[in-house]
Amino acid sequence: DGPRRCRRLEGEAARAVLANADTLLFDCDGVLWRGEAAVSGAAAVLGKLAAAGKRLCYVTNNSGRTRAAYTEKLRRLGFPPAEPRHIFSSAFCAARYLRQALPPGAAAYVLGSAALAAELEAVGIPHLGPGPAALPGPAPADWVAAPLDPAVRAVLVGFDEHFSYAKLCQALRYLLRGGPDCLLVGTNRDHRLPLEGGAGIPGTGCLVKAVETAAQREAFIVGKPNRFMFDCVAAEFPVDPARTIMVGDRLDTDILMGNSCGLTTLLTLSGVTALDEVRGCQDSSCAARHSLVPDYYVDSIADLLPALGE
Ligand code: PLP
Ligand code: CA
Repeated sequence: DGPRRCRRLEGEAARAVLANADTLLFDCDGVLWRGEAAVSGAAAVLGKLAAAGKRLCYVTNNSGRTRAAYTEKLRRLGFPPAEPRHIFSSAFCAARYLRQALPPGAAAYVLGSAALAAELEAVGIPHLGPGPAALPGPAPADWVAAPLDPAVRAVLVGFDEHFSYAKLCQALRYLLRGGPDCLLVGTNRDHRLPLEGGAGIPGTGCLVKAVETAAQREAFIVGKPNRFMFDCVAAEFPVDPARTIMVGDRLDTDILMGNSCGLTTLLTLSGVTALDEVRGCQDSSCAARHSLVPDYYVDSIADLLPALGE
């Protein structure tokens, strides 16, 4: 076998790899679109794949949108119609995880968006937290006197633009009260969200780390590269890893998850990764870096169009 080598996917190999697949998992940002703009030619490629009878699923670490919002965005940008059951966001997968891990009636304290709260509601998990935190007193020392909700048995950390010291205090209080009986769950560890022109904003990983540091314990992460997200897909559809392609733009999330789940991995250079980083991993003497090397790369998924009979 030897260490993985990454090759450009084109010509006859592209036809063969696509013919062998019955399911494709697409990361979203950087693969299908960048922000609000579709990657040129991506919608046409997905249209062809759908017409060829491939199952298309969407796996995203972004916990800031509901599954319904993803189906709407796909429609708006001209992608083939998707149902909510084809969308595996870290918000949906977190709700699914808590549904199986929490006893009936238990609630979650949430650092996250309204979308994350909506996914919890959809599976019947009571929650508190989203939105700006009300300060329970003039100084942090007063906050610890405020009553805690007796039903809370989990702290869930997602993308939260209202993250604050007050929320961090409250999360710690629930974790200290419950001890190991209070679950600590993070949607994902992405450290930075790239914006156009090289700018970036802090990702959810920063918020998860803050809570982990306060509580001195490690969160369970539902998003990529954890295989929990792939397990959610496999619980919904009969997927065969040997006939599944994971398409992504990030090595330490998309490609690592695909490689560790035995999928064929395809990196697209339309997002956050440059080919030099792949070469660096390939040439490294470190086994952990080899697991970041994709099987194939393309400049953009639009490059797959000729292999689909065009
Ligand atoms: N988390 C947040 C809050 C985001 O806005 C994004 C991208 O927009 C991501 C994570 C990464 O999403 P993906 O896994 O689709 O690249
Ligand atoms: Ca991405």
